[in-house]
Amino acid sequence: MGKRLRALLGLMLVSVGFCGVVLGFAGAPLPPHTARDVPAGVSAEPTQDADFAQAVFRPTVILDAGHGGEDGGAVSAAGAAEKTLNLSITLALGDMLRANGVEVIYTRTDDNGLYDGAEPGHRKMADLKNRLAVHQAHPDALFLSIHMNTFSDPRYDGMQFFYSKHHPSSEALAEMLRQANCTHLQPDNTRACKAADSTIYLLDRAEGTSVLAECGFLSNPEEASALMTPEYREQVAAVLCIGILDYLYHIKESPVQ
Ligand SMILES: [Zn+2]
Repeated sequence: MGKRLRALLGLMLVSVGFCGVVLGFAGAPLPPHTARDVPAGVSAEPTQDADFAQAVFRPTVILDAGHGGEDGGAVSAAGAAEKTLNLSITLALGDMLRANGVEVIYTRTDDNGLYDGAEPGHRKMADLKNRLAVHQAHPDALFLSIHMNTFSDPRYDGMQFFYSKHHPSSEALAEMLRQANCTHLQPDNTRACKAADSTIYLLDRAEGTSVLAECGFLSNPEEASALMTPEYREQVAAVLCIGILDYLYHIKESPVQ
């Protein structure tokens, strides 16, 4: 960690800023208009058409920090709870995306789960249904669920991406995220993207573009201790941001049918 990774993060953030400029999203900050910008006979006031164009061309991403509340998710040997690491990466990623003109919707921004009012024993399903409902309310938005992995053998490490098999755009997004990770953070990671089966409730039922990122193995001591540092979580967030911006640029140029 230390200097090399800090330098990498700086490079990534420059790249992220560059992507935002190239993409030219409607939500990116624009210089203020001056009187000379307005042709004769054209009102300087915003029009309904301008509002409509902005709504249509501004991409939206739903960020879903896995678990929360009484559901802590996986736990590392040192006691780090998955729900806390998921939320930290999610909030950092949201800041990066918004700085690049992407609209961000969160399923949660604090420690609470999404099972309010559900009886014990029904809370996990209520939580998942409420997360799915956020996606269904914004069917054109990208949906990215953030989680941590765990396995009985502590040797395994590395990020991996799962995609919903209901629309080809989900696989395309997962592949962009995988490539961003291999390029910027984990060059030796050979994990392929995988289609989600019915055990991943959200991806199995999602109809829009949906990916789940397993951001590392809490069962691997080295990866777990890296994930416990804010610097490494920022790097994971930067990789995810680059992958999402690459995907948005890709679909802008050649939409997935
Ligand atoms: Zn999880």
